[in-house]
Amino acid sequence: MSGQWQQQVSLKPYNTFGIDVKARFFTEAHNDDEVRQALAQAAGQDVPVLVIGGGSNLLLTADVQSLVLRMASRGLRILSDDGERVVVEAEAGEPWHPFVQWSLSQGLAGLENLSLIPGTVGAAPMQNIGAYGVEIKDVFVGLTALDRQTGELRDFSLEECGFAYRDSLFKRNPGRWLILRVRFALSRMMHAHLDYGPVRQRLSEQGVDQPTAQNVSDAICSIRREKLPDPIELGNAGSFFKNPVVAAVLADKIRLQHPGLVAYPQADGQYKLAAGWLIEQAGWKGHREGDAGVHRLQSLVLVNYGQATGVQLHQLAQKIQADILERFGVELEMEPNLY
Ligand code: FAD
Ligand code: NAP
Repeated sequence: MSGQWQQQVSLKPYNTFGIDVKARFFTEAHNDDEVRQALAQAAGQDVPVLVIGGGSNLLLTADVQSLVLRMASRGLRILSDDGERVVVEAEAGEPWHPFVQWSLSQGLAGLENLSLIPGTVGAAPMQNIGAYGVEIKDVFVGLTALDRQTGELRDFSLEECGFAYRDSLFKRNPGRWLILRVRFALSRMMHAHLDYGPVRQRLSEQGVDQPTAQNVSDAICSIRREKLPDPIELGNAGSFFKNPVVAAVLADKIRLQHPGLVAYPQADGQYKLAAGWLIEQAGWKGHREGDAGVHRLQSLVLVNYGQATGVQLHQLAQKIQADILERFGVELEMEPNLY
């Protein structure tokens, strides 16, 4: 086997749940050539490949009998600037939050609501990352991906990515596309999105009346630090379930018994329910089984207190799903990618 591939590598430092499984083979790619070399070598030896970025949206339930290829490519560049609209491109291995900070330091707005999301630029399109009323599709212009079936490069426009709520063409076709770099259209003028959750209130508490994009980013970082566990201190993969979108008739039925139901009307007449609220109502908040648990402040986040296995976390998630289905008639879909 290749001298460049490490063998039997613990993936504990490479997934934010901190799950201690092993990769049969492990390597990093710093540029397109290294990606191609790793894929060609793996194909030649009939070894499957699992591409990862920051490992912040993974649930690893067993040793990985593949080559784990960690994207470590770097590079940020401005492609065009008409004085107002600025197109930037970032390599897949760039860590997301430092990229957001870099864009703000260039005086560019558009990514501020997506501050402090872990992971890499290359994984961001996978589930069309979103927070506080903004998704990457709102500022996305294109990406370049390698077709792992044909070995050809392909540029995708916004329309071709099939972005939806925490979903994309890439997530729906796992293993087909390896995202190499992503392009965003940012702006020298901020179009503020402050009406989501406590963002406006936090800015006003901070005495900010006319926020800059940097102010919004700072406010969102402070809210997130209060509510969300830092994976360095407590293993987690962020929200473990997507917020379910249900028919109005089901939302009305639940509201009859639970007048405090948190439900947001959608354009198509359905309602998005806050999954965390449902889980909390069902009594799971702070629940712990061994080292697998539900976070004490945010019921949507499952946590690893130290030695939990992926199987234990998955079993806990399945119990929650069954309970929410029984109590409310609502199916919760897991958000992290299960391996
Ligand atoms: P990984 O976990 O490494 O991979 C995720 C998936 O993408 C895997 O299937 C992997 O195979 C695939 N993949 C990775 N890189 C590539 C590539 N270059 N090409 C093709 N496929 C690839 N998500 C949100 O949407 N909003 C949030 O606000 C948010 N907050 C979070 C807060 C915390 C504390 C944590 C731990 C997670 C949060 N997440 C959030 C989830 C996660 O951070 C994002 O989904 C992030 O984009 C995952 O990036 P990653 O590099 O860690 O991906
Ligand atoms: P929150 O503010 O407590 O709100 C609870 C839920 O209600 C959120 O999930 C959000 O849905 C929804 N919501 C709130 N205000 C809304 C509005 N005005 N219109 C429509 N929906 C609204 O949520 P939180 O847990 O602290 O997270 C804050 C933001 O960060 C959310 O956008 C959340 O998605 C994002 N986040 C995501 C992850 C992840 O891993 N995916 C982890 C942490 C935080 P949406 O989730 O659909 O936005």
